[in-house]
Amino acid sequence: MALSGLPASSAPLPWQGESWSRLAGQQRSDKLPHALLLVGPQHTGKALLALALARLLLCAQPSNGRNCGQCHACALSASGSHGDWRWLQPETDSRIIKVEQVRELVEFTNRTASFGRCKVAVLAPAECMNASAANALLKSLEEPAADTYLILISHRPHGVPATLRSRCQILRPEVPTAEQSLVWLDRLTAERAQSETLLEVARGKPLLAQQLFREGSAQALAATQGALCGFMRGRVPLAEAAVALSELSVDAFLAQFAAQLRGLLRNCAGVDLSGYQGRALFVLLDDVMRLQRAVDAGSNPNRQLLLESVLGKYCRVLGAAGLGDTIPAPSGRHFV
Ligand SMILES: [Zn+2]
Repeated sequence: MALSGLPASSAPLPWQGESWSRLAGQQRSDKLPHALLLVGPQHTGKALLALALARLLLCAQPSNGRNCGQCHACALSASGSHGDWRWLQPETDSRIIKVEQVRELVEFTNRTASFGRCKVAVLAPAECMNASAANALLKSLEEPAADTYLILISHRPHGVPATLRSRCQILRPEVPTAEQSLVWLDRLTAERAQSETLLEVARGKPLLAQQLFREGSAQALAATQGALCGFMRGRVPLAEAAVALSELSVDAFLAQFAAQLRGLLRNCAGVDLSGYQGRALFVLLDDVMRLQRAVDAGSNPNRQLLLESVLGKYCRVLGAAGLGDTIPAPSGRHFV
């Protein structure tokens, strides 16, 4: 998330009302835990909730349960230059939060707050810390500074070491319904049909749909989804699918493959889940999730080899014919 050029005040998302009243209530009564872990699916707004909370904590004169948007602290947090605020995420050239970043953060937590209020640090995604980064952070969580709030964000909490998780209060912010997502997207697109298409390609994730809209990349994503689904239906040969998918990053490919496989196991038409094929598909999903955790933790596999290996395993489980029409049509049917 880019932390500059923010609006004067940061609000939670419309579907986060319950989480927000709990957090803002804890903040008002000075009972906010010093380490929070926000857990939930990717692209559903956890980072925006953390942003609203961080800016509320830093604001000198909150009003209506939000940061005021007028004080000096709010002006600094809007420009991303508030000295009592850190936002750790993988740097542009990296997939992980590095130990050096965490060490700098630990140093930050040991300093006195420049504005005398409090310091806030957000780490997102928390599963992107490798073991040494997590160890470096652990000390801060074991001996939290009185005026410091750490907010960890995770969509794969099991990738966060249990020693870290157990020291945080876990909050699972609300996940929007399809209608809530569409109403929110309508404000962007001003057209329900387009909102529906975007949300479909984004597999129900409103923040991803927003990103696709802004980047104009929904069509490209729909095309790769179509190629992958065609392959899983046995209609697109492995070599052709590998070429069509080769533009995707490793994590985007794994996420798409896992989503299709989960959809297949959920609908499970044509597969006897207790039989050989069903069990083999669960094993394949486990393999893909293991790869996702490894990539989160900094592993950097050869993209083409990984892609061919995963697609190859799928072929061996189901045979070249795939599952034919038993697989639901791909998302993004408006594009393909
Ligand atoms: Zn303010």
